[in-house]
Amino acid sequence: MPCYICGEKKLYKFLSLGQQPPSDAFLRPKDLSKPETTYPLELCLCESCHLVQLNYAVDPEKLFRDYVYNTGSNNSLKKSFANLVNNLVKRFNLSENDLAIDIGSNDGTLLSYYRPHKVKILGIDPSSATKLVLANNIPTIVDFFSRKLSAKVIKKYGQAKIITATNVFAHVKKLDDFVAGVKDLLTDDGIFVSESGYLLDFIEKLQYDSIYHEHLRYYSLKPLEILFKKFGLEIIDTERGSIHGGTIIVYAAKVGKRPIANRVAELIRQEENFGLYKKETFTNFAARVKKNKLALRKLVIEKKSEGKMIVGIGAPAKGNTLLNYCNLGVEYVSYLVEKSRLKIGLYSPGQHIPVVEEKRLFIDQPDYAILLSWNIAQELISKLRRGGYRGKFILPTPKPRII
Ligand SMILES: [Zn+2]
Repeated sequence: MPCYICGEKKLYKFLSLGQQPPSDAFLRPKDLSKPETTYPLELCLCESCHLVQLNYAVDPEKLFRDYVYNTGSNNSLKKSFANLVNNLVKRFNLSENDLAIDIGSNDGTLLSYYRPHKVKILGIDPSSATKLVLANNIPTIVDFFSRKLSAKVIKKYGQAKIITATNVFAHVKKLDDFVAGVKDLLTDDGIFVSESGYLLDFIEKLQYDSIYHEHLRYYSLKPLEILFKKFGLEIIDTERGSIHGGTIIVYAAKVGKRPIANRVAELIRQEENFGLYKKETFTNFAARVKKNKLALRKLVIEKKSEGKMIVGIGAPAKGNTLLNYCNLGVEYVSYLVEKSRLKIGLYSPGQHIPVVEEKRLFIDQPDYAILLSWNIAQELISKLRRGGYRGKFILPTPKPRII
């Protein structure tokens, strides 16, 4: 598979997590005996434009229609959306004459924060999570965003002053078509704001469990500059965010329409100093990933042989990557506790670990609980302690440790 941004055909494959089922493909009890479809999960570096990407893309129809994640269930995410929207309204003087579009709008949580400011809103999302927008009363088009859909939106709603795409821009398979559609859809002074997992955090904090089939690209700023340039857009500002373990927020506008903040060049310098444009950085990363797997397995096997009970906290996509790559199944992890009603009663893809209600943790009091949603570890630990859990927590990455 060639580079999504520059088209380079020869990519440097630095990490393989093996064949895995899609990490959000939870199974119903009656599906457990059927074979699961798996796809390669491998990361490559483009040595021309420095983009990091998967070398295999699963058909989006298979990944996103039955999406079992809903934004409104995550408190840190909600807070981050509220901040983002309030900043956008203030900074770009958004008013009732402006249209704000959110691509990958999920249950409409982000868009709901525009409400007090009277900004016109529209969501676009293909997944079943959009069923919840009816309750939230958010106008939503249930479809994949594309250049073709963009033309339809312009006809019906006009152009948008703000287009946001949070945690979705790295998931789009037809990237060029997507960016072309965004450019068409923006007003002349419009801004495209994307927030995606940041490669620098990913490498530094060893977030290999953020690798899953939906997540096709692992962005740093420099390759994105090259991407936007192809479409007459330029990056005018950037920030680092803290949700999902570290994100990059990128503001792009039509060339020459907005001043460019110094922070853009500064962050590219930081990336260069960190080694994001060097092959060795990725070779070292892969070696650290393998070491982590061995260390985590050793810890879990040791505790299990002492007769301890171990469970998992949360059933996020990243948890499945980790459990599948480290080959930790029900013989080690008895069950995963979840709050999301969409997942309770199902089984994790690959390892087939049952997903149960959170209250089981307080009843069974297992000796160890692996924090699979480490990105909200602090929030979870204090909440579960308050709930009465008395066992110990295991943080799996960057170095497995007991707390
Ligand atoms: Zn490239």
